[in-house]
Amino acid sequence: MNTETVTPMMAQYLEIKDRNRDALLFYRMGDFYEMFFDDAVNAAAALDIALTKRGKHLGEDIAMCGVPVHAAEGYLLTLIRKGFRVAIAEQMEDPAAAKKRGGKSIVARDVVRLVTPGTLTEDTLLDARRHNFLAAFAEVRDVCALAWCDISTGEFRVMPCPAVRLGPELARLAPKELLVADGFDLGLDDGPSLTRLAQSSFDSTGADRKLCDLFGVSSLEGFGQFDRAEVSAMGALVDYLDLTQRGNLPLLRPPIKEDPGGSVQIDASTRRNLEITAALSGGKDGSLLAAVDKTLTAAGGRLLERRLSAPSRDLNVIQSRLDTVAFLLEQSRFRVDLRDALRRCPDIDRALSRLALDRGGPRDLTAIRSGLEQSQRLSDQIGGKGPTLLQRAAADLTGHTDLHALLDAALVAEPPLLARDGGFIAPGYDPDLDDARKLRDDGRAVIAAMQADYITLTGITALKIKHNNVLGYFVDVTTTHAEKMLSAPLSETFIHRQTTAGQVRFTTVPLSEMETKILNAGNLTLEIEKRHYATLKAHILAHAATLSATARAIAEVDLAASFADLAAEENWAAPIVDNSRAFAITGGRHPVVERALRKQGSASFVANDCDITADGTAAIWLLTGPNMAGKSTFLRQNAIIALLAQAGSFVPAKTAHIGLVSQLFSRVGAADDLARGRSTFMVEMVETAAILHQADSRALVILDEIGRGTATYDGLSIAWATLEYLHDKNQCRALFATHYHEMTSLAGKLAGVENATVTVKEWEGDVIFLHEVRKGAADRSYGVQVAKLAGLPDAVTDRARVVLEALEKGEREGGKQRALIDDLPLFRVTAPTPVKPTKASEVETALRDILPDQLTPMEALRLIYDLKAKL
Ligand code: ADP
Repeated sequence: MNTETVTPMMAQYLEIKDRNRDALLFYRMGDFYEMFFDDAVNAAAALDIALTKRGKHLGEDIAMCGVPVHAAEGYLLTLIRKGFRVAIAEQMEDPAAAKKRGGKSIVARDVVRLVTPGTLTEDTLLDARRHNFLAAFAEVRDVCALAWCDISTGEFRVMPCPAVRLGPELARLAPKELLVADGFDLGLDDGPSLTRLAQSSFDSTGADRKLCDLFGVSSLEGFGQFDRAEVSAMGALVDYLDLTQRGNLPLLRPPIKEDPGGSVQIDASTRRNLEITAALSGGKDGSLLAAVDKTLTAAGGRLLERRLSAPSRDLNVIQSRLDTVAFLLEQSRFRVDLRDALRRCPDIDRALSRLALDRGGPRDLTAIRSGLEQSQRLSDQIGGKGPTLLQRAAADLTGHTDLHALLDAALVAEPPLLARDGGFIAPGYDPDLDDARKLRDDGRAVIAAMQADYITLTGITALKIKHNNVLGYFVDVTTTHAEKMLSAPLSETFIHRQTTAGQVRFTTVPLSEMETKILNAGNLTLEIEKRHYATLKAHILAHAATLSATARAIAEVDLAASFADLAAEENWAAPIVDNSRAFAITGGRHPVVERALRKQGSASFVANDCDITADGTAAIWLLTGPNMAGKSTFLRQNAIIALLAQAGSFVPAKTAHIGLVSQLFSRVGAADDLARGRSTFMVEMVETAAILHQADSRALVILDEIGRGTATYDGLSIAWATLEYLHDKNQCRALFATHYHEMTSLAGKLAGVENATVTVKEWEGDVIFLHEVRKGAADRSYGVQVAKLAGLPDAVTDRARVVLEALEKGEREGGKQRALIDDLPLFRVTAPTPVKPTKASEVETALRDILPDQLTPMEALRLIYDLKAKL
């Protein structure tokens, strides 16, 4: 056993590490964050940095690696992305203080923050235009709730959430981290990073008190009625924030209770299929969000993402948003002015959050200042104009005159990044500060004058007063003058400090007095500026509630103006959204496909009508047509038009009349879902089942080639029965694309089903896609022609044509396919002469006769020797 004692530093490290076992510990040592033991090994591998050693612990080398403090954010980001959590232990006192205590005292250190995916606040670690939600799911006596917050903006919400709704809600919010109680099984294949907390974090009684304390109220009732599960979920969030931020709680707005019926229900696969906020490839490029985003502020960008993820189901809300877009579309000059002010609006929410968490700097103060400047400008521009939503925004955009005047008077135009560097308080704001600065700056002038005096006094024209960190200010002459300087009478004034190879250095009493004055004045300016920083910050935080209302108003105006801009540029139309069960679109387009075609410079997008207005019954279009004709595009564009309309945007169509949609479902048959390890057909059926169970009469359902993932007759039967069920039971509006022609006969049987087809033209045996959707059934599927387009060898497509003709003939003549297929002339391809099989060798023959299961290891070995000998 090693008797080596643990160093005081290592003892401190181990003690802190013991309290933070589930995180990497960044242990501050001077200008570095150091990691030790397994933390060092893991971090070095994850960050691709050098792993070194530092001393020994219990006889073993201590692995160590480190990152410089000034570059720590980049490393943090990598670690968080790779799934680590990081505890940051800072030095809690000046190293000088520890030294003063003497003995083996070391600098006190403690964890000041736990960095996790859901609790980031740094601009460099966040996507400006996306939320960074932290969510908590709670269950109290079979009632479940989901709460979520974004500590970088203060957003805080909660909603009832039965376990089956958890998947869809997580898909909507895409939180970076989800808190659940220990022992809870989520049952989701993928999703956010999961953090398990002790049951006590979810205790609803304690939670109620925590929340009341946080918001300084005696009861939560003022914010709404919350059940125990909701309080528990919110309490867990606050508990976790307390833990990760070490008591430095972020600024959270009072919680808003979301009504699950308030927005269109869209599940995870529908979101994926429609590529609402992310393209199938994973990124934002190619998504609906990217195609329609013309917002100019980060908060506007975040609001757009929220709206597209959760379009409203409240007619009044939708209408007031559409009215605003219509007004801004018409008033184009006004819109340009508004957008000019919006372009200059900083991110007030995130600046506020950094200030509240004490991670801010002078630039966050000036961000608030310019935010208020621009919001006042926006409010003035709006004046009394426009619909209610704009009027309400204008009211929230103003009213900060005093705060703005204070910040304007106090701050310089372009402050430095860090408060500790000083130089951000404007001259003229504080006479004491001005005096201190003058003393500091004048001191430098006095020293220049002193130099001139000393040159006259000594007669040494090369005499200089210089400054360095060791000596401070000193008089500097070359050694040639040493003797003169060191003897009377000059030696009475000049006190020798240092002799180097070529120079001799002196100080004088007035010079060192001056130096002290300059130093003190410098420290004093920093001291005063720091005080002002704290006061200004406190002023801002005292206005946090109204400031975040202003930030929200900026986002709202930005979003409306961006929708208007989009409508103007893309020639989009105002949708009519009402309580009917209409769904009538003329000249509809798919915004993302249209954009892609435009970019490629190929043929322009063909606009199409769609009418699945349901009067009393279901209304379903059964869409047939060859592959590549544009069926999927048509299906999706109609879903997207409904989604955009209810998100408050104009739509890519000539006209659109949409009866409120409650749920949106979109499924694609046999999509590859290998990543989730289930058979594609199984996935297809599970998803179809979910629709048939859930879709109500206000749902809009889009089914693309359902049944494709299995044998023809199975697939056809399933597709057939699904359509009948949608029609009779769900009675919803639906678009159903299929390549099973047999299904077109359903139109004659079911009152609410109509046939539609995407037209193609045949020309000299080739197929030309017209991308036009018209009523009626496709005459045939053109599969062979499409295969030819795809580059299948001519021999194969020619042969396919012969087989097809035979099959079709068989069908016409009543079920004699088998005989006809047997009668088909043999397939002939002019292929190279096949290689003749050579006679099996002796070894091959011997091998063929072996029954490996019956051989002992010894026999096998002998056999290998025998075979080898035959070669
Ligand atoms: P399907 O589902 O019938 O196989 P898709 O909807 O995938 O066909 O469309 C195939 C391609 O045809 C699309 O990628 C697009 O480039 C083009 N396309 C589809 N619809 C249109 C349209 N309305 N106008 C112009 N091109 C279109």
